[in-house]
Amino acid sequence: MSKIAFINNKYVKFNNAKVHIEDRGLQFADSVYEVIAVLNKKLIDYKYHFYRLRYSLKELNISLKVDQNRFLKIFKKLLEKNNVTNGIIYLQITRGIQVREHVYEKNIKPNIIIYSRKRKFNLPDKNFYGVNAITYNDLRWARRDIKTVNLLPNVIARNNANRKKAYEAILIKNNIITEGTSSNIWIIKNKKLYTHPSNINILKGVTRTSLKLIIKKMKLTFIEKPFSLKHLMNADEVFLTSSGSFITPIVKIDSKLINNGKIGEITLNLAKMYFKSCMNG
Ligand code: PMP
Repeated sequence: MSKIAFINNKYVKFNNAKVHIEDRGLQFADSVYEVIAVLNKKLIDYKYHFYRLRYSLKELNISLKVDQNRFLKIFKKLLEKNNVTNGIIYLQITRGIQVREHVYEKNIKPNIIIYSRKRKFNLPDKNFYGVNAITYNDLRWARRDIKTVNLLPNVIARNNANRKKAYEAILIKNNIITEGTSSNIWIIKNKKLYTHPSNINILKGVTRTSLKLIIKKMKLTFIEKPFSLKHLMNADEVFLTSSGSFITPIVKIDSKLINNGKIGEITLNLAKMYFKSCMNG
């Protein structure tokens, strides 16, 4: 566990990092967040994370001007204080504290919570592994493009996956695969890549954005189009992307093996290319 966290302009001992009971993040999930991967002390794709953070804040009308350089300084200091080489930075911005009331006051001061945690990533080396997933009903609200801490449907789905010893739950709405509980889902069929288009029905993943550039460079055919459960189950390869899992192959969904339960060739190549771009970028 981290030793030091950052909360409202102060570095504090992790156990003393607390928010008020009337913080709107606690009362209403009135709060946005980002999870940024740290690989070899490098903050991966941080520019996209700041872009999305500003978007989430704007969509919810939370008035915080994000000073990227200031945040980067805090991130680096936290990584140093907590001795993190590989791990994640967790950043949450709540609307702030006020008497419990659905209507928020103007000029309420947002609370900023930042901490880091060590993490071992699934990297495309000799230990690279594929994971199992389950399918589950997408029970979430209608603005999944905003990265809020309103995560209860994700928590329910993921715990169902966990009970079945699966790594992720793949969410389905009206027979369409939207995404995972904390990842974007991709399929490959006849060497063509498919993923759900970025609209209000999914979170536009930072890893997804980064991977799109690699796909372009590799001149692979990529189609942003909703696909069905049947397409998922009949795919040649399936993988997920997220800042915590980078590119992770999915080799079994419910009771169906994908690619005979083995990591697919295209998935492996993409994972290698993505890892390379993280190290060089
Ligand atoms: N979808 C959801 C619902 C998520 O929570 C996440 C993780 N933040 C993602 C997709 C992947 O996004 P990213 O690549 O930015 O981590």
